[in-house]
Formats: sequence, C-alpha cells, structure tokens
Amino acid sequence: MTDANAQPLYDTYARADLRFERGEGMWLITESGDRYLDFAAGIAVNSLGHAHPHLVEALKSQAEKLWHVSNIYEIPGQKRLGQRLVDNTFADKAFFTNSGAEALECAIKTARRYHYVNGNPERFRIITFEGAFHGRTLATIAAGGQLKYLEGFGPKVEGFDQVPFGDEKALKAAIGPETAAILIEPIQGEGGVRPVPDEELRALRKLCDEHGLLLILDEVQTGVGRTGKLFAHEWSGITPDIVAVAKGIGGGFPLGVCLATAEAAKGMTAGVHGTTYGGNPLAMAVGNAVLDIVLEEGFLDHVRQIALFMKQGLASISDRYPEAISEVRGRGLLIGLKCAVPNTTMVQALRDEHLLTVGAGDNVIRLLPPLVATEADAREALTRIEAAAERLSVTARLKSA
Ligand SMILES: *Cc1c(COP(=O)(O)O)cnc(C)c1O
Repeated sequence: MTDANAQPLYDTYARADLRFERGEGMWLITESGDRYLDFAAGIAVNSLGHAHPHLVEALKSQAEKLWHVSNIYEIPGQKRLGQRLVDNTFADKAFFTNSGAEALECAIKTARRYHYVNGNPERFRIITFEGAFHGRTLATIAAGGQLKYLEGFGPKVEGFDQVPFGDEKALKAAIGPETAAILIEPIQGEGGVRPVPDEELRALRKLCDEHGLLLILDEVQTGVGRTGKLFAHEWSGITPDIVAVAKGIGGGFPLGVCLATAEAAKGMTAGVHGTTYGGNPLAMAVGNAVLDIVLEEGFLDHVRQIALFMKQGLASISDRYPEAISEVRGRGLLIGLKCAVPNTTMVQALRDEHLLTVGAGDNVIRLLPPLVATEADAREALTRIEAAAERLSVTARLKSA
C-alpha cells in the first residue's frame, strides 16, 4: 500500500531532520558534509566516540571469524568479558543481553527467583521511584511507572510499587511482606539528571538489609565510566545485589548485561532464563574492546578531569546567562542543564550551533559526550553553549523589557 503521506516506519519517533552518514571520534558528519560536535553520543552509548580504531578492529576481525553460535555452546569471549566484569565490580555473575530493558528484565527475574528459591514465592513486588526510566518492555514500563509510556498497553504488569523520589517516609511505608527488592537509578537520566545523594544510597542499602530486600541498581546510563567511576554506585561505597548495565558497554554495538552477586543469582539455574542473541561472539568482541580502553590506567581520571573542566565552564555560563540556564547538575560526564527556556528550544539552539545534546524530564537537557572527549573538545562545546545561551538570553531580555 502506498499513499502520498506514507512512510514505511512506525510513527513512534519524532525525528530531527538530520541524516548522518559517518562519525569520526567526537564528530558526526551529515550526507551534505556538515559537521556536528556530538555531546549526545547516541544517548550515552558511543562511550569511545565514533569509529574508534580499537573497536573497529575488534569488530572487523571477529566478523571474519564467527558472528553467532547460540548459547547452546561455550562462547569464550562471553566468559572472558564476564570474568573481567566480575574482577572489576561487586558481582560474581553476569548474564548478557542485547539492550538495557532486557538487562532490567533479567534483574527483575533474578530478584523474584531469589525469594522463590528461598521459599518465599509471595515476595515478588519491587519498589521503584517516580521519574524513573527502566525501558519500554511491558515489565519495565510498569517499573518506570510513567503514565505516558503505560497508556493504552493494557493492564500494567503487576508487582511494582512506586514512591516519590527522595521521600523516605513513603519508601518505608511501601515495604510490605510481599516486597522483594528496591530498584533505583543512581542518577535518574531520562528523569532529568537527578542524582541520588550518596548518603541516601547508603540508607537504601541499610533498609534493604533490615528487611531482607535485594538492592537493584539501574546503571544502564550511569555505568561503564560515565560518572568517572566504572559504576556510579562506587561513589557511595555501597555493594548492590544486582546491577543492570547497557548503553556504554557496547560503545554502539547492542549489548547489555545483568550483574549479580552469587547469592542474589542463586535462583537463576539452568533453563530458567535465556536469550538467542545475548552475549554472541560479535557483541563480546566489541564489549571486550570497550573494556580494554575503559579499564586502562588513567582513563577514569581523564573522565573526571574533563567533567570538572566542563562543570566549571558551565557554571560560569549559567551565572552569566540565568535567563537560559538556571542550574548545572549531574556527575562526571552525565551532565544536566536545567533550562530557563523550554528544553526543546535549548536543544534546537544548540543544534543550530552544530552541537548535539539530548532532552530529559524536568526541563533539563543532557550533555553526554563520548568519554574520550579532550579539553579542546570540551572548550569547543562550551563556546557553542555560550553562544546559544547568549542568543536565548537576548531574546528573553527583549521579551521582558
Ligand atoms: C536507556 C535506558 C534503559 C533502557 O535501555 P534500552 O537499551 O533502550 O532498552 C533503561 N534504564 C535506563 C536508566 C536507561 O537510561
């Protein structure tokens, strides 16, 4: 069927009118040769920028050997990546997926099975927080609890109890005999770069211990060096039970992983869970190559250094142009700018400066540059942000005059 207005894709995305043809490090280049500085990084995915030579080499050489075999067989690259994640985190066990939502699904199933094999099948409910985002599957939209994602998709998947962000009283009141776990993002990404204070994460850990609950962290956006630690929860010193990871770990290849302690994962025995593609040789070659670089001595120091430079520059811009940017927040290179104009206006104004950013809730825009950004890249971004902020401020001042 064809009609004049038809296009072949679902109309689920309101896409910007930009067609990129290739990427080089921090830059995206359109079909017509226009260059954009990429501080969106495919929403925190291209952690090492575009066409990183080490990733290209890893993908090419694996592509010539073996793409896929199924988890019916041993996959050495999967064991290697799992072992490296175990060696460098709280975890004892890893389950590989193709996306963040699938890593969350595995996390939710792991928590429910834990209580099931402990003889408490009634403990399946998970407490989540307003403003959360955990993905778009039926279970993860229930976990995220946002009406705009739930509407029209039938009954909400049972077993998620949502409490206001930062409301300790409501949280305690929500814990009941059926509660299995608490699920939280260390920094809400889609929700508007809203960090959970370190002491609050420690309080959550304590609360979980007191009530026999598992603490599940969604580090899909905050993980793999984004905040200047390998995982954001490391800043607080806590040990989670289960962590969902994706985005940055694949550097652009679809890859996710659910990490867990041996105790938390004890119910995930042979046959209870699986995936066709998860952890296939191609994905594992790229994931291992990403870790080669992120685990290099000094890499996370570099992230922290660039983040500090960005934060200082942004604070100065916000001081001078409060009519455009009212607050700078976040951690590491997960930076939120609370806008004094509509955030969509700000994203467009920056796009006009050929700087790519991403919108978020709470009228925030996110800066999520590749972690390999240099000080020169950061300075370039700041110049463009300042130009946009100045332009928007002049308009705002004229309007109010
Ligand atoms: C992006 C994201 C997800 C979902 O990941 P998909 O790969 O889109 O399924 C889940 N949680 C958080 C915090 C995210 O940022």
